[in-house]
Amino acid sequence: MIVISNRLPFVIQKDDKGSTIRKHSAGGLVTAVAPVVVEHNGKWVGWPGPDYDFGAPLPESSPDDTTPTAGLKSSNVIPVPLSPNLYQSYYNGCCNETFWPLFHSMPDRAVFSADYWEAYVEANLLFAKNTIKGLDDMCTDDEPTLVWIHDYHLMLAAHAIREYAAKKQYKIKLGFFLHIPFPSWDLFRLFPWADEILQGMLACDLVGMHIHDYCINFIDCCNRRLGTRVDSKDMLVEHGGRYVRVAPLPIGIPFSRFVSLAKEAKRTIPEDKKVVLGVDRLDYTKGLPQRLKAFELLLVKHPEYIEKIELLQIAVPSRTDVKEYMELKEQMDQLVGCINGRFSTATWSPIRYIYGTIGQQELAGFYRDAAICFVTPLRDGMNLVAKEFVACQINSPPGVLIVSPFAGAGQNMLEALLCNPYELTETMDTLHRALTMPEDERTLRMNYLRKREQNQDVNFWMKSFLKAIGRLSEEGSPVV
Ligand code: UDP
Repeated sequence: MIVISNRLPFVIQKDDKGSTIRKHSAGGLVTAVAPVVVEHNGKWVGWPGPDYDFGAPLPESSPDDTTPTAGLKSSNVIPVPLSPNLYQSYYNGCCNETFWPLFHSMPDRAVFSADYWEAYVEANLLFAKNTIKGLDDMCTDDEPTLVWIHDYHLMLAAHAIREYAAKKQYKIKLGFFLHIPFPSWDLFRLFPWADEILQGMLACDLVGMHIHDYCINFIDCCNRRLGTRVDSKDMLVEHGGRYVRVAPLPIGIPFSRFVSLAKEAKRTIPEDKKVVLGVDRLDYTKGLPQRLKAFELLLVKHPEYIEKIELLQIAVPSRTDVKEYMELKEQMDQLVGCINGRFSTATWSPIRYIYGTIGQQELAGFYRDAAICFVTPLRDGMNLVAKEFVACQINSPPGVLIVSPFAGAGQNMLEALLCNPYELTETMDTLHRALTMPEDERTLRMNYLRKREQNQDVNFWMKSFLKAIGRLSEEGSPVV
């Protein structure tokens, strides 16, 4: 198996003495996929971070490393060299300023630039070339090698990889998974190089997305833009004499890890306190100003909550050098200040606002002890916070999850309360309903939510992907 993602599963950094070390990335994808790459002696292709000097030997993991990437030897890793200028235009430019807003249905924020696009093409080719190096080492005549490409940074990489493999008569299976939404035709067609993107993705055998709606959007775009024959019922697109399968494969979380973290976490929210919890990167897709305004409206319409509840909002700094993100930070600072100034009493403030990153252990404690998790993005591919919250809800009686229907999680977490974050009164009413929900209803809803996330955790997701691409044995172990 060769996995390709924008970043390697660890970043190379310099320590105090100037030696290069690995810094592990903690996300669910790494936790689930790295052990499979290790077990099958596969490879991971990605950018190693700005501190790595290309050509220098990659550091091995330290003997006390217990993270899922500890078993990845440097021979399992292929670093992709991207110059600072290229990275700026490809990643900060095309990925973050174009695809991120456009794919999140916010076209007014998207920048369409030929320079960004050129850089995107060049970077994708570099990722493909480095993957090809790995194929030379790995392809045999027996089983096909699985090449698994991740996310919107690399929508063109499959094309060059397929061409090279065909030339060399290598047997490969190419899979792609998109971790953000795929927009409707109406929005996607705004991108001037839309054909190339679709053709790039169709070089794969399987295209996986979080939910059915994103798959339908993709199939519709293929049909209307490229004129390809599609079968929307069986989710197939015909391209270049092949059938490409498109499949909804909602990602899960490492459920049992979060349960263990919740069991071990210290209590930081007192038992008699009702906390409404928000946990987000500070991103314009997360609907944070709307959330604060809905909370403010609740205090106006229901003054009985004054001194009784608190909104604990964690906002993780993100893309801090970008103007729009700086403006959002300013807007949040002002809103928090205004609401706290308006409602605080001598012994209480309505909003506790943490601008920073919290470790997962402490986060698990917040998830466990919060009365409500308030997840109201304007658009979100999945939203893992909603899933982590229910995993950590081990107290009895449990709390309530509120989720926006515009997050992937809102489509699958059926027992959560849904609310449209664009409409303040509805959001406020939903919050009030959650705060007054009877214990038995909370328990019933949470039991169903937890069972689903336990059954469909991140390992289930990975196996579902392998199964869909035909690389899972009858006994359920990966054949990669
Ligand atoms: N997270 C974290 N520390 C924090 C806040 C968030 O580790 O202080 C993690 C959280 O546990 C989750 C991820 O960041 O796994 C956020 O994922 P999500 O899908 O909700 O949003 P994204 O940031 O990927 O858009």
